[in-house]
Amino acid sequence: MSETLHGACLCGQVTFDVHEPGAMGFCHCTRCQRWSGGPGLPEVEVDEANFEVTAGQELIRHFTEEGFSGVGFCSSCGSSLYAFGDGKYYVSAGTLRGLEREPEYHMMVAYKAPWDVISGDAPQFPESPPAA
Ligand SMILES: [Zn+2]
Ligand SMILES: [Zn+2]
Repeated sequence: MSETLHGACLCGQVTFDVHEPGAMGFCHCTRCQRWSGGPGLPEVEVDEANFEVTAGQELIRHFTEEGFSGVGFCSSCGSSLYAFGDGKYYVSAGTLRGLEREPEYHMMVAYKAPWDVISGDAPQFPESPPAA
């Protein structure tokens, strides 16, 4: 079944489509905490070829650091849009409208903030989930 999710940043100038979305995982790592300003981020995985920016490409800036996934954000409003690496995008779930899913797993739980209380029955992995 073909599915397309529609995303937008806070100011609305950047919009994007996510075709054939994959798993949704919640990353609790220190980097995601800083990037999101919260407990980390639930992210929907998608193949590079299935991620399509439909407006505001010129506003998107990337932050990259050797050895880590890069991240993309809106330079107008600062919204955390996606992480990327290894031919995939990991789209921030909060930017996707009408998303009716729950995280399928939690990762980097060993690094979660002390005040971050994880709910639900999804499996929790101390670091990365085991390779599929
Ligand atoms: Zn924006
Ligand atoms: Zn993370």
